[in-house]
Amino acid sequence: MRVNVTKPYLPNKKKLWARFNSIYESVTLTNYGPQVNQLENRLKKRFGVKHVICVANGTMAMQIAIKSLNLKKKEIITSPFSYIATTSAIIWEGFSPRFVDIDPLSLNLSANLIEKKVNKNTSCILGIHAFGNPNDVQYIEKIKKRNDLKLIYDASHCFDVNYKNKSLFHYGDISTISFHATKIFHTIEGGAIFTNNTRLAKRIRSMINFGIEANKIQSLGINAKMNEFEAAMGLSILDEIDIIKMKRKKIFDYYFKHLSSKFQFQQWSSHSQNNFAYVPILFESEKKLLKSMKILNQKQIYPRRYFYPSLNLLKIHNSQDKCPIAESISKKILCLPIYHDLKMNQVNDIIRNLISL
Ligand SMILES: *Cc1c(COP(=O)(O)O)cnc(C)c1O
Repeated sequence: MRVNVTKPYLPNKKKLWARFNSIYESVTLTNYGPQVNQLENRLKKRFGVKHVICVANGTMAMQIAIKSLNLKKKEIITSPFSYIATTSAIIWEGFSPRFVDIDPLSLNLSANLIEKKVNKNTSCILGIHAFGNPNDVQYIEKIKKRNDLKLIYDASHCFDVNYKNKSLFHYGDISTISFHATKIFHTIEGGAIFTNNTRLAKRIRSMINFGIEANKIQSLGINAKMNEFEAAMGLSILDEIDIIKMKRKKIFDYYFKHLSSKFQFQQWSSHSQNNFAYVPILFESEKKLLKSMKILNQKQIYPRRYFYPSLNLLKIHNSQDKCPIAESISKKILCLPIYHDLKMNQVNDIIRNLISL
């Protein structure tokens, strides 16, 4: 049996089918029906953010976040240590990413390097909380204010992550998340935009529905709606999320106990707690990583190289920015399998193989 880095969670069938039945009865399949509405309300309550707008996926969430801020200048400061969608969103919206290197322990933007990259063309900072670990959000907020910039966080990994007892989604002008099937909480495909700015939320709501407001086309929009079936999946998983997290915590703690003397783990913010979405470990060298991967693959175990390569090196970015730490870490980091029903004997097998080399 193949062990992948993750496995989509499928919720209790009866509960999901009950929700599908109510979709059949209402014959509302999309366009902000009762399921999406309920999901938004439950997320709003869970995270305490004023506005939660569910969308088609996490990439659209970021593109719309960028578009909605009406940025005039063309450069966006971002991290090279992320998934490609963070920077493709920037370019797709007509902006240029400027890469700032990461901190080797937190794996987030090196906050003290950000300001050196700010110039007359800088409009925005787009940070990513790598593997859910909060950025130095208070320090970055100060940089934003001092330089009159906008601030977006790709918080795709941050479901249920708090910073100083408040959801991480409160930070920045906008935070976005992905609800893709591979994430800890998912809606098959999907995502959400979080903001406490009511004017911005109103603009975003119209933007994701063709620019329509009060039945009239008021501005340029796109279609980024989440549908009712996706929301029904999300609601059903939300009912079970605390159990999912408990199961993942057990696996994460076990990995940590047996591997942390041999491998470096990400240093988590002291103001926050891990949500156990990922288990990244750092090897001494890329050579050792590749050797371990080969052995694990032979046993049908497939960890993933998140995030490789460092995004500043991709041809599509045509970037001159040098990020030696991100370039080095991305070669040596591997995410180990973690999901709700991964068996402890499988975890043990993975640990044994990693330690034996
Ligand atoms: C998954 C992910 C995305 C993309 O989200 P989609 O919902 O697949 O479009 C973007 N950024 C990060 C950091 C992600 O992990």
